[in-house]
Amino acid sequence: MYHAKAQGCNSYCQFTSDLSRDAMDRLLLENQLHQALVRDELVLFYQPQINVQSGRMIAVEALVRWNHPEHGLLFPDVFIPMAESSGLILPLGEWVLRTACRQMQVWHAAGLTHINRVAINLSARQFEQLTLPALVASVLKETQLDAAHLELEITESAAMKNPQRSIEILNTLRNMGITLSLDDFGTGHSSLTYLKLFPITTLKIDKSFVRDIETDHHAAEICASAIDLAHKLGLNVVAEGVENAGQLLFLRNIKCGDAQGYLFSRPLSSADLENFKLAL
Ligand code: C2E
Ligand code: CA
Ligand code: CA
Repeated sequence: MYHAKAQGCNSYCQFTSDLSRDAMDRLLLENQLHQALVRDELVLFYQPQINVQSGRMIAVEALVRWNHPEHGLLFPDVFIPMAESSGLILPLGEWVLRTACRQMQVWHAAGLTHINRVAINLSARQFEQLTLPALVASVLKETQLDAAHLELEITESAAMKNPQRSIEILNTLRNMGITLSLDDFGTGHSSLTYLKLFPITTLKIDKSFVRDIETDHHAAEICASAIDLAHKLGLNVVAEGVENAGQLLFLRNIKCGDAQGYLFSRPLSSADLENFKLAL
């Protein structure tokens, strides 16, 4: 503000109008996101997760996109934070859950049972809802999908907001037969005690560590220690963001179980995933 004032009235006026334009753009996009849910403009893409040793696809992660009528395909970083602050994340998250479960049922009915499990991302806001287990149960019933084919990903930071409550809610979900993974592992602050108490099945090592695994010995050590720790706790590990063969070789050597990243495949439309064959 001082800077703008120092430059005279014109630049000050410019500053405020830019600010309100940003706010207007945001409001417009937020309104449009509301409509997007009604108009069926959201779409799920699916990214394969691969077993590092066998090369087989073990699961897919559903990632939401917005097919915007003017701006084209928008990525979640553009609209998920807005959905979170406006509360729209609740209906959006429910749509993601229902759509992914329905899609799995369609694939299985068509004999595509090698697509064994779908993982969906839960935002902290969804995870805080006491009604979450009941919602998941009702969507599984409605889509007639066995709970074993559904995985819920919750970020380390969301789980650590209220660890005691997380333990309870995760236990309820796990007792329903749902697979649970701790996403972006290494970026939050989870204590080893909680790691042991959370009834999770999988740790997903954040892609920032995997990216530097060959060049930064700290990143390599963190990946190796996380894998070691996970195995000692009886958990699976998925390394995220594997982009090249060198990273894969490194991960194989440190006995990483599963991996996900552009090296294997980018997130695919449901039709493209049906034809996905790993070619390494
Ligand atoms: P995430 O859960 O960590 O998902 C992985 C992100 O990494 C995806 O970005 C994916 O496309 C990207 N990725 C996959 N392989 C590679 C790779 O080899 N290199 C690099 N650099 N990136 C890779 P995307 O689809 O843009 O999603 C971003 C984030 O948005 C997700 O991060 C997740 O936090 C959030 N998100 C996506 N879909 C949903 C959803 O349905 N609900 C909620 N609550 N959040 C979602
Ligand atoms: Ca995720
Ligand atoms: Ca992640």
